[in-house]
Amino acid sequence: MSTTVSPSTASTEQQFGSDNYAGICPEAWAAMDEANRGFAPAYGDDIWTEGAADAFRKLFETNCDVFFVFNGTAANSLALASLCQSYHSVICADSSHVETDECGAPEFFSNGSKLLAAQSDDGKILPEQIHELAVKRQDIHYPKPRVVTITQSTETGRVYTTAETRAIALACKAHNLSLHMDGARFANACAYLGETPAEMTWKSGVDVLCFGGTKNGMAVGEAVIFFNRKLSEDFDYRCKQAGQLASKMRFLSAPWVGMLETGAWLKNARHANACAQHLARQVEGIPGVQISSPVEANGVFLLASEQILNKLRARGWRFYTFIGGAARFMFAWDASLKRVDELAADIRECAGAGN
Ligand SMILES: *Cc1c(COP(=O)(O)O)cnc(C)c1O
Repeated sequence: MSTTVSPSTASTEQQFGSDNYAGICPEAWAAMDEANRGFAPAYGDDIWTEGAADAFRKLFETNCDVFFVFNGTAANSLALASLCQSYHSVICADSSHVETDECGAPEFFSNGSKLLAAQSDDGKILPEQIHELAVKRQDIHYPKPRVVTITQSTETGRVYTTAETRAIALACKAHNLSLHMDGARFANACAYLGETPAEMTWKSGVDVLCFGGTKNGMAVGEAVIFFNRKLSEDFDYRCKQAGQLASKMRFLSAPWVGMLETGAWLKNARHANACAQHLARQVEGIPGVQISSPVEANGVFLLASEQILNKLRARGWRFYTFIGGAARFMFAWDASLKRVDELAADIRECAGAGN
């Protein structure tokens, strides 16, 4: 049987427009392949789903409640909805994915909880901003703050240190707020900090973590991890109602077993971060090109003139500029260092005088 997809639809040259351009890493693929040998009970009542949840409990060194959903928007929205009532509000950074890239899903799934966005240049929220927003309005006419959500690593590739997370958790405690972490790139933050996942989350006061699998090397899937198990009540019903309960759940959970048991989750993140560092080192000091955000996780953000960016585009490079106008390059488990070198060389040439 011949394929109906022409080879020309698949780009042969690797692009770094998003860490979602990558395919499925071998460890995730192998586990899915193994889960595909025969049948298994549906809706999560299978050994893979149990194994994946256990692997998370082992990784986080605690007895947490773990749920598997299809994507990050659902993970964040449903987690936030479980932390507040419709008349509550959620404090976030103004550049956070929940505020800018989820089409109102957090408000929708919480039946209207308002997002209170704090101004932030690097995607991080400060404890002072939490204090400010938490007490700004305390009358019945304004939605009551109930949750803080932080992104680790942030949309601009910054990483909260554990001390910073702790300080945020303290601010939350002072105002009776739950702390949610959007960890679509949590693995990259772990790789950068070199600290244990436990230290970075529940030991520092995080109540719920959305742990990203897609950008880490899976085909699809995020894990919602409740360290504060009181908050997970009926979360399975919430997932089902939202269309997020996979009937063949083993294909969402098996890849996690592959990722966690082999350590691929961290290996992939380390490689992706190293590629970002590799690019950053080579473009540092190029006149007309400025790294706009310290490179900590797996992304590099470059400020350059539209002329330079257009030259790069003309050479075939794909990138987005929707975050603060900087050209974003994201790296995943599959990034080729040789291709990163080609990108660096093209940036240098496109920025060169007289070009
Ligand atoms: C990619 C991403 C998500 C998840 O997005 P989906 O497209 O819904 O899977 C969530 N948060 C952040 C910070 C992201 O970068």
